[in-house]
Amino acid sequence: MIPVIALVGRPNVGKSTLFNQMTRSRDALVADFPGLTRDRKYGEGNYEGQRFIVIDTGGLTGDEEGIDAEMARQSLQAVEEATIVLFLVDGRAGLTAGDEMIADHLRRLGKPAHLVVNKTDGQDPDVAASDFYSLGFDQPFLIAASHNRGIRSMLDRLLPAIEEADAEDRADRYPGIRIGIVGRPNVGKSTLVNRMLGEDRVVVYDMPGTTRDSVYIPYERQGQEYTLIDTAGVRRRKNVREVVEKFSIIKTLQAIDDAHVVILVIDAREGLVDQDLHLIGFVLDAGRSLIVAVNKWDGMDGEDRARVKEQVQRRLDFLDYADKHYISALHGSGVGVMYDSVADCYESAMAKWQTNRLTAILQDATAQHQPPMVQGRRIKLRYAHQGGSNPPVIVVHGNQVDALPGAYKRYLENTFRRVLKVTGTPIRFEFKGSE
Ligand code: GDP
Ligand code: GDP
Repeated sequence: MIPVIALVGRPNVGKSTLFNQMTRSRDALVADFPGLTRDRKYGEGNYEGQRFIVIDTGGLTGDEEGIDAEMARQSLQAVEEATIVLFLVDGRAGLTAGDEMIADHLRRLGKPAHLVVNKTDGQDPDVAASDFYSLGFDQPFLIAASHNRGIRSMLDRLLPAIEEADAEDRADRYPGIRIGIVGRPNVGKSTLVNRMLGEDRVVVYDMPGTTRDSVYIPYERQGQEYTLIDTAGVRRRKNVREVVEKFSIIKTLQAIDDAHVVILVIDAREGLVDQDLHLIGFVLDAGRSLIVAVNKWDGMDGEDRARVKEQVQRRLDFLDYADKHYISALHGSGVGVMYDSVADCYESAMAKWQTNRLTAILQDATAQHQPPMVQGRRIKLRYAHQGGSNPPVIVVHGNQVDALPGAYKRYLENTFRRVLKVTGTPIRFEFKGSE
């Protein structure tokens, strides 16, 4: 589906100017569809081969009454149709009450929206942007539409984000905490799925069970909604099992992408094998939180258990922030307590942290342990804010950040992880230089 980008903002912030820039390199389709207000323009853009539609919504002043109210209604409808919203503000005029009201509208609509500070020409863009942090958006895009500045780098960041939002949309059709169950064939995924759903539950699928798609099973447990994403691709009808397909990597990747929390099942009797490590790599690359379930723990003697535990600890040394459970899907032991880990992982993956809290942690960390000097100048890290969730992204701003050593980045990650009590999920760091 072609993404739709809606431009909103007060009059005169530069929406038309940006619209014209974004739709410049195409065969323009700036149509005046009948029935639309004069203020609503549609255009097609093309950025490095990716097509998108831009809507200039025109009339939002933030203070809607009378004729303005009708314009606002039309604009809000455009916002509803959009994949993503760009909320423009005027970097020269600074923050106004109208901006605040529009921000409020957008929050209530719950659409993914990005703040764009326009007219940053002739002033320090960071200073221009600082006025708008209180609107509560992620890192704004800084542009000068009439000078065609900042628009390319905005699209560079925006278009991948739109793809992500699309995937999110698809996954959001399923309620609650989405748990992906992944693992090699025969490790016990289907057995675990049945166990997690509860013994009494008769699961009947009339889904077509295509080979590509996992089965999504919404259910409720102790008042909490979940959706299990079952990659085993097994249709069950009471005791009859019909194997559609045992294992597919596409299915596994998709399930990981759609999940909030991934449970990787491994077979205790085989120990941790290379394929398990590949799957862990996929989960971490996708930025999902991870729980390791070492299955078939029943019927193993003490010596074998010690050996497997030792191997798991050693090979998953780099994953010390993820919970490991030793379970028997067949008998049910250890399965219930995994829900506690699921809750912790979900909370960590979706957490929202205030900019001043993150900045305080950063400042404490750098005070404890200064970043090194580079060519006679000390690297400075000034502030941090959150750039996203699932996985959590922490954006750190400073000088000479390109020279920051890996060991120092790991120190920061460990510090943030410890103070914020982040379990199970990787944390992404982005370092932004202000030189
Ligand atoms: P709209 O009402 O939001 O569609 O705003 P317009 O695109 O019509 O722009 C309003 C005014 O701001 C026009 O005079 C534009 O030339 C000017 N403008 C737009 N972008 C910029 C910019 O990046 N820098 C400066 N200095 N002026 C701009
Ligand atoms: P999947 O291919 O990952 O979905 O694996 P299945 O759930 O189909 O299980 C493969 C085999 O392992 C079946 O014969 C299960 O009965 C057996 N199995 C699954 N979990 C356990 C367990 O906890 N203990 C034991 N002993 N066997 C299990």
